[in-house]
Amino acid sequence: MATLLLGRFALNRAVNLGLTRMIGNSLNRRTMHLHQNHAFINGKWVGARSGLTFDVTNPANEQVLGTVPDMDINDVNDAIDAAHNAFYDKKWHNSTAKDRAALLKKWFQLLEKNRKEIALIMTAESGKPIAESEGEITYGNSFVEWFAEEARRVYGEIVPTPQSNRQMMLVKQPIGVAGLITPWNFPHAMITRKASAAIAAGCTVVIKPAEDTPLTALALTKLAEEAGFPKGVLNVVTSSRKNAASVGKLLCQSEKVAAISFTGSTEVGKLLYKQCANGIKRIGLELGGNAPFIVFKSADLDKAVIGAMNSKFRNCGQTCISANRFLIQDEVHDEFISRLTEKIKALKIGDGSHDGVQIGPLINHAQINKVTQFVEDAKQKGANVVLGGRQLSEHGALYFEPTIVSHLRDDMKLYREEIFGPVVSIIRFKTEEEALQIANATQRGLAGYFYSNDLNQVFRISKLLETGMIGVNEGLISAAEAAFGGIKESGIGREGSKYGIDEYVYIKYLCYGGLE
Ligand code: ADP
Repeated sequence: MATLLLGRFALNRAVNLGLTRMIGNSLNRRTMHLHQNHAFINGKWVGARSGLTFDVTNPANEQVLGTVPDMDINDVNDAIDAAHNAFYDKKWHNSTAKDRAALLKKWFQLLEKNRKEIALIMTAESGKPIAESEGEITYGNSFVEWFAEEARRVYGEIVPTPQSNRQMMLVKQPIGVAGLITPWNFPHAMITRKASAAIAAGCTVVIKPAEDTPLTALALTKLAEEAGFPKGVLNVVTSSRKNAASVGKLLCQSEKVAAISFTGSTEVGKLLYKQCANGIKRIGLELGGNAPFIVFKSADLDKAVIGAMNSKFRNCGQTCISANRFLIQDEVHDEFISRLTEKIKALKIGDGSHDGVQIGPLINHAQINKVTQFVEDAKQKGANVVLGGRQLSEHGALYFEPTIVSHLRDDMKLYREEIFGPVVSIIRFKTEEEALQIANATQRGLAGYFYSNDLNQVFRISKLLETGMIGVNEGLISAAEAAFGGIKESGIGREGSKYGIDEYVYIKYLCYGGLE
């Protein structure tokens, strides 16, 4: 009991003061009102029942930014109960779309008003350059605005009936409590893309942000609280990596949770899919990719190089739609590499909070070890390191030099697996058929890119490339209006667009019979 009390009150207060001091030192003081060191359950800021916490660090210098509750299944059960009560007993499911839209709009306005502060927090915990954090905030906020608008367009249908004494209707109803598990690479947008769709539909949510980036999640939550979301509609539980598996399992298996939406690794996605099977739970998965980026000989090489830079180096290559395999046609291969090399050499590397920095650190040690191993593996198997290829310890422990590796073979990790780092891996090809064969020879199918000025080729490749999204002569493709999602092992379902809400509603068929 003492521990419990300590966990809920005394410890939280002590931790709060510590957090305030720590973040006050490392971040601008005007962001203080958005720094939270508690999770949010049933409209209250709470610590873990156990009293445990974990540290959040800045990948640029590995300093501790603060601590948040290390919640386990007991706390998550509280959050699920709160969301369930809010949906059924407090009748959120009966709220009007107009009211939900108004709340989302209010949240959107507060997110816009506080964009600078959120960006500072995001850069501090994710290492993302500040300009990119601001870009993500524009993107993340756009989902809240979009789904505020979409909330009022969830129409049903009256279906022409085969019997004249019947009336048939299809109505869309919110599915219930949605469990949302999100990654660190877009600490804001992956939450708003899911949560605002779910809330617009009339669902309540339990969000489990990534352990590397909970502070951004809590800042968004603080603004949701200010916007006036009713108790239990939006709950956020923070957990360390140690508790992630058990918390995830509970969300998948609780009978009170109706749907899961996950963005993260394919490995964890497959596990969650299995865990949801028993309860036949609705699941949306946005998993890893292995995006081909094909440059055909007719391409405008300047545009292709800009597209390559955007697609590869955003967030230091740590996005699931980053170009992963560059396929360059024989005739333009050397020229493309030479132009790209010049651009890469001009990149400014450093702490993302400093002016003009374009390449920050990788998120954590696991990530930098993986990228280093992938490059070593390619070197050992005979690839050519054209540029970079090493860790930049002069900047800090988590920096990797922007790198180009050519002459890749299909037995190399850089070729087969998702890199999630600033490494351009290049494969030379001769014919369109060969490019397509290489591009599609993977079980991943999230994004793909190609550059060509041959109109017939553009239509052929658009049809035959096996990915859920394609950038045609374009390296930046994400938008709230677009349907984001993959095929093959890259996922199920779509986020954003008018389809994003479908993940959180079910169609109920009503048959009115015996009509006179
Ligand atoms: P990464 O390896 O890039 O961190 P993950 O897929 O492991 O990607 O993480 C994405 C999200 O999934 C994070 O919120 C993380 O805490 C969570 N997670 C990790 N392992 C599990 C698991 N076994 N079950 C549920 N969620 C998990």
